[in-house]
Amino acid sequence: MRAGLMMLALAAASAASVAAAGPLRAGAEAVRDRALHDPTAYDYVESVSVEVGQRLAGTEAAARARDWALAKLTQLGFTNVHVEPFPITAWIRGPEDAEIVSPHRQQLAIIGLGGSVPTPPQGLEGEIALFHTYADLLAAPPGSLAGKIAVVTQPMPRTQDGSGYGYLNPARRAGPSEAARRGAIAYLVRSLATGLSREPHTGALNYQADAPKIPAAALSTIDAELIDHLAARGRTIRIRLRLASETRAATAWTVEGEIRGTQDPDEIVQVGGHLDSWDPGTGSIDDGAGMAIAVAAARLAGTQAPPRRTIRVALFGAEEMDFARAAFAAAHKGDDFVVIGESDIGADRAWRVALPAGSRQTPEMADYAAVVAPLGVEVSPEASRGSGDDTADLVRAGVPAFAVSQDASRYFDWHHSSEDTLDKVDPAQLNQAVATWAAFVYIAANSDIDFRRLAASVAAPQPRRP
Ligand code: ZN
Ligand code: ZN
Repeated sequence: MRAGLMMLALAAASAASVAAAGPLRAGAEAVRDRALHDPTAYDYVESVSVEVGQRLAGTEAAARARDWALAKLTQLGFTNVHVEPFPITAWIRGPEDAEIVSPHRQQLAIIGLGGSVPTPPQGLEGEIALFHTYADLLAAPPGSLAGKIAVVTQPMPRTQDGSGYGYLNPARRAGPSEAARRGAIAYLVRSLATGLSREPHTGALNYQADAPKIPAAALSTIDAELIDHLAARGRTIRIRLRLASETRAATAWTVEGEIRGTQDPDEIVQVGGHLDSWDPGTGSIDDGAGMAIAVAAARLAGTQAPPRRTIRVALFGAEEMDFARAAFAAAHKGDDFVVIGESDIGADRAWRVALPAGSRQTPEMADYAAVVAPLGVEVSPEASRGSGDDTADLVRAGVPAFAVSQDASRYFDWHHSSEDTLDKVDPAQLNQAVATWAAFVYIAANSDIDFRRLAASVAAPQPRRP
């Protein structure tokens, strides 16, 4: 819906609901309408992009991000603003390059995967074994890749819900160990990215204990296609790859703040995004925008009226390398979470939400559905199975989750690449996502809806695996 049309629809919906709706719904509508014009979220993502920039966990930049976040939450009026430190193994990128050396020399645009071991300092060279799909690699027999560089060039489909990323994620995370088990000396994967670009997209890998650790990098989508074309001519292709990196013991920090509840302060409505980012861009869409949405939504919901329950925001300190979720769950084992949600799918408009199991038919959530319908947001008939990687351990332990699907159609054009920058953030779409979150936070924090009890009354869906 275009912005003007959306405003008209909102005005009509608000007018029609004044007589019928109770105070909870009227309050949520007011929060929604404020959110659509509120500068907090865009200012937040602009500030973190410009004043901090990339903030890889375990680096000097992450310490700057921590200090920035403490000041920002304080300035925005949150209380009990504090840092929760936890230990991580930081992975720091060094110089990287790659080229085709045969049949003729051609520079390749690559980026090392987070956690990759380095190559020898002079690099390594090998004939490639090309797989057009990840399944083809998995079908290769043991030993068949001995001495070779395994290359997987499967394209990622463009989808509104981002499901293409989840589908291909094992090619990046598990591919290096699967190739090593079959004898490969290095691994290259087509970037998990939509669109065609010369910018490669990084992301974490997970070595498996029973396989040798081999160096692994992502190819730009354009270079993956070049290799496909060369291979189609039946040529033997040799690639030289050089990756440098170091790992070290480090500290990461999750930064938190709250708006304290007036009646049931120990009941926590928890939202957040992640403070760390990958290193090539400025972390504006992943997850500057996600943090901005959570922070702005918490503030709007908490300032509409003093909330009954406590609204808390967490800016998770090391999502990309998978460290924050266990640290957060351990630090908050005893907390009474009403519901938890993480915003980590970019800056574009929300189109669907998933509610905790068993809650969809309650009056509170019926109100919520009515409040967000004029935004073009539907309530999924399926209950939520999780909401971001940083909440996954708590969700597995039974904390109800609220999840928002934003339009991910263009998110993976830039995600984890040098093109994750502020210019990709559309303020109108960002605020529509803030409105979607803020109305939910307002209702959850100002009602006595008991998502845990509701979930217990139905067969809960299996939590999503992180
Ligand atoms: Zn993220
Ligand atoms: Zn990410």
